[in-house]
Amino acid sequence: MLRQVADGVLVHESTFVQSNAVVVEGRAGVLLIDPGVTASELDCLVNDLADLGRTVVAGFSTHPHWDHVLWHAGFGEVPRYGTARCAAAIRDELSDPHAKTRIADHLIETEIAGQVPLDLLGLITGLPAGTTRVPWDGPKVRIIEHQAHAPGHAALLIEERGVLVAGDMLSDVLIPMLEHDTADPVGDYLGALRLLEDVAGDAGVVVPGHGSVGGPGRARARIELDRAYLDAVRNGRVPADPRIGPSAKPGWEWVSDVHEGQFQQLAR
Ligand SMILES: [Zn+2]
Repeated sequence: MLRQVADGVLVHESTFVQSNAVVVEGRAGVLLIDPGVTASELDCLVNDLADLGRTVVAGFSTHPHWDHVLWHAGFGEVPRYGTARCAAAIRDELSDPHAKTRIADHLIETEIAGQVPLDLLGLITGLPAGTTRVPWDGPKVRIIEHQAHAPGHAALLIEERGVLVAGDMLSDVLIPMLEHDTADPVGDYLGALRLLEDVAGDAGVVVPGHGSVGGPGRARARIELDRAYLDAVRNGRVPADPRIGPSAKPGWEWVSDVHEGQFQQLAR
């Protein structure tokens, strides 16, 4: 089911880790950001768009993780954009003929085993490095690329609508999930938060890749929460963070394990 979060911006929420697909209305059709996860949900989104009389004219993936680069034939053969680094990362991953089998194996342990269509996964067109806007016929969508969470990660600011699509950042349920393959994962993440802070004042709505859509002031509040988390782990302190430990939302206890894992990795 599509839910409007701002004028001309709708969200389709998955039951799988509260993943958010974002639909932005343009002149000739919609831009679809991080389309969703399971086959039945992608079917549902195809039908919802048909009911609205809208076709997809372009896609965008915020980063190269499998749950953000899926697609459904019903969305059509349209350009599916990402940053140059995002496209290169997924291309590199898929150059291994066993890549999709690995993703499917990883899903066996989850409640959506066998339900994720991998055939159109990762067919991303990289935008030239430094591209600052999604090339499409609709409201201006600014690309805010940064180094955090995944290679070529980008948030999108739909300026005229005041919506910040944060990718896998600024979540109310997930802590900052670090990209460990860099020299300074925490420093990179803090740098990314500064870039997001520059636009947070323009965002009356923040849509995280996973979690709840936030209203006015929430982007800034989540940036502060993420900073406090990073400050603690960088200094070897246990963070007092509502997303982990006893205060974690029911069903999200595994986030504490993610925290433990990256806390130990940083200590090494
Ligand atoms: Zn991710």
